Amino acid sequence: MFGVSSDDWSLEVPDRYFSLEDYDGGVARWCPSCGDHAVLSAVQRICRDEQLPPEKVVAVSGIGCSSRFPHYMHTYGFHGLHGRALPVAAGVKARRPDLHVWVATGDGDCCSIGAGHWVHAVRYNMDMTVMLFDNNIYGLTKMQTSPTTPLHFHTKTHPGGAVLPPINPVLTTLGFTNVSFVARTVDWNPLHLYQTLKLAYEHKGLSFVHILQRCPTYTAELFRDLQNDPDRIELLQHPDGVPADPAVERMYKNHKVHDPSDIAAARALDEARSDDRIPIGLFYRNPAAPRYDEWTATGLGMTAEEKLAGVNQALDRFAV
Ligand code: SF4
Ligand code: MG
Repeated sequence: MFGVSSDDWSLEVPDRYFSLEDYDGGVARWCPSCGDHAVLSAVQRICRDEQLPPEKVVAVSGIGCSSRFPHYMHTYGFHGLHGRALPVAAGVKARRPDLHVWVATGDGDCCSIGAGHWVHAVRYNMDMTVMLFDNNIYGLTKMQTSPTTPLHFHTKTHPGGAVLPPINPVLTTLGFTNVSFVARTVDWNPLHLYQTLKLAYEHKGLSFVHILQRCPTYTAELFRDLQNDPDRIELLQHPDGVPADPAVERMYKNHKVHDPSDIAAARALDEARSDDRIPIGLFYRNPAAPRYDEWTATGLGMTAEEKLAGVNQALDRFAV
């Protein structure tokens, strides 16, 4: 029949196919050239490539520019309060382990008011992807010093220059008990950004991804030089790390072999870091770290009758 064999009619057609539009929650209101656009695009592409049903995805955030993220995902979402993205995400994961949880938080949101939650969320190691959008400033409230603002950088709260040394989010996270996944990427390299976030998504446990994020409105000079000088970036390489890509390897010529199972070596990478040598890639992964979401999932599938029987059985132990 004009070259069409009967086999062609038996092609498997999925019940539902999700395109990028299925995850698109509307026009993002971030400033033009803001790095947040690139991260949103990468997450939507991962959802499409993994064919995640939109009703099985939830984006959770705190407060800040990047925390507008859930509004732009056509999935479930929760735009939380200052620094509270992680406990909300933990609550979601505890009751709905079937959902794919993406957390959007910023350097102010995570490393300042949310710092207490940061420590414990990493320790609880529930399965979720945490994206720290680090633009080195409070952007939404218009340029106050954040915990990652570089020393001497001029801000509205420190017009003479920031007076304290900044927190290093990667090094800090690597110091938390039960840490299981830490990576760094940059928003202006879409391939590396995508590959890093995909690796983080695939990890079973809390994946912490430090994203160097351009803020052309308030910290343009901090990122412009870095973007224009790829020799300042050091690409971490390992078969268990972020998958190698020839285009990324050509862009970043400083390569370093790093075994992501070695936490001491991971810490040493950023302890030795200078502005002229910023490692990107997978710092550390421990798939064997215990996960609290496996414990909270216990009994979730029980019927009301089974729960009642369980309670009665427990109470019977105290019968006299
Ligand atoms: Fe992005 Fe900075 Fe604009 Fe916020 S202020 S939307 S971080 S460019
Ligand atoms: Mg910020």
